[in-house]
Amino acid sequence: MQRFLIWGVSLGSLGSAALLLFLAPESLRNWWGETFQGEMVCWLPHLPVLIFVIAALWGWHLRQTKIPLLALLLISAHALLNLPLLHEAPPEQLREGLAVFLPWAFPLLLSWPERTLKSLSGWARIGAILSIWLGSLIWAWNQGFAAFWPANLSGIPAGVKSISTFLALLTLWVLPFAERPDLRASWTWSLISLGFASLHGEQWWPESVSAAPWPVFLSFSALFLLGGLYGLTWRRAYLDELTGIPGRRAFEDSLRRLGRHYAIAMVDVDHFKQFNDRYGHQVGDQILRFVAAHLKKISFGLLFRYGGEEFALIMPGRRAQKMIPLLEGLRHSIESSKFTIRGKNRPTHRPRRKEKTSGGKEKVGVTVSIGAARKSPFHSTPEAVVKAADEALYRAKQMGRNRVELARSHRESSVKRINCHEWEEENWREDKMRKKRTLVLGAKAS
Ligand code: GH3
Ligand code: MG
Ligand code: MG
Repeated sequence: MQRFLIWGVSLGSLGSAALLLFLAPESLRNWWGETFQGEMVCWLPHLPVLIFVIAALWGWHLRQTKIPLLALLLISAHALLNLPLLHEAPPEQLREGLAVFLPWAFPLLLSWPERTLKSLSGWARIGAILSIWLGSLIWAWNQGFAAFWPANLSGIPAGVKSISTFLALLTLWVLPFAERPDLRASWTWSLISLGFASLHGEQWWPESVSAAPWPVFLSFSALFLLGGLYGLTWRRAYLDELTGIPGRRAFEDSLRRLGRHYAIAMVDVDHFKQFNDRYGHQVGDQILRFVAAHLKKISFGLLFRYGGEEFALIMPGRRAQKMIPLLEGLRHSIESSKFTIRGKNRPTHRPRRKEKTSGGKEKVGVTVSIGAARKSPFHSTPEAVVKAADEALYRAKQMGRNRVELARSHRESSVKRINCHEWEEENWREDKMRKKRTLVLGAKAS
């Protein structure tokens, strides 16, 4: 959810900025034009370099070799456009060359496995990237490969540029090598930015900003890269690799953002060690994914992998009041669906005709024990609620497993002859009222 929010807000604000730029009244455009042509124009060309350097260092730090490579590629594209040495080449041709060759660096880079640069394939990567710059330069000096291209193609460079960008975009999405959604999204947006930048000279934006497109769009591309890196870092820090659900760190963070009413449940797979011992750790992992998939279906709470074969469930708000039947339903749904263990003699290809034999499959039942606690005068802090839920889970284990147990204080309240239902009703009233009532009850009990 948080991830979508970040992406939504950043893309929304970029979109609104672009809309503002193009739909803004004349006076604002003039201000923008004056500013960019005036004082800001001197630092603007260096802006992409700064952002690319940050992205490259961050990517290197996260051991994402593709990111520094891509940043390097974009920095050099930027340098190619700005180096005085290369100014003999017609700038328009240079841009066209970059626009045709640069987009191909993205799918090319993504298609390589993430490995160190100090290897043969690492040097091959650098070679391939260098060939892209070289291609751009040759393009520039040979005036768009006029000798090789059919006359009509070299005559319409805008068409070649957009075809190149769109084909590269298509490759990025169609081929299955872009396994990480955050990076893929950021690379797509970088490519689109570059695509826009490559249309320099087509005059589709206000003339007042015509000095800016390449640095501005290269900066956008760098920002998208940084966004992708942020997404990757966030996924690594908060999501559990095995089950894909938020992990312990996300759980601790959520505990700090709880409202006035909530309940926490700890879910633990029963006799999980036996699965590991009997079928191996890989099957153990599959069982964890199976349980996580079941738990994911619930709509009444936030799910986390607490650690090992233990999951935590936070039920915020008034839903916490109805937690017993909800948790009971959850426990029952896991108990009633069997996990299929695929045998070692399983065929590698799907058979043409269905065999009547079990194919080495074995169905096993998986059960969970659940301990739950609500926020109450007995457990007023999130840590106390977690502890109480954990104690309840321990009791559920002791009482035979495959069951839901509530925290002791809820039961103790009935021992003290306090009407349990009445207490629960009162439990959700104003803080002051609750404290008063507890004091009175405490005095009566003593
Ligand atoms: P109980 O019913 O009392 O909870 O028994 P249990 O066997 O489920 O609990 P125990 O704490 O004895 O064993 C938990 C095992 O879970 C020990 C550990 O090797 C295994 N485990 C923890 N994390 C993972 C994991 O990510 N993958 C696999 N395959 N096993 C894991
Ligand atoms: Mg267990
Ligand atoms: Mg356990």
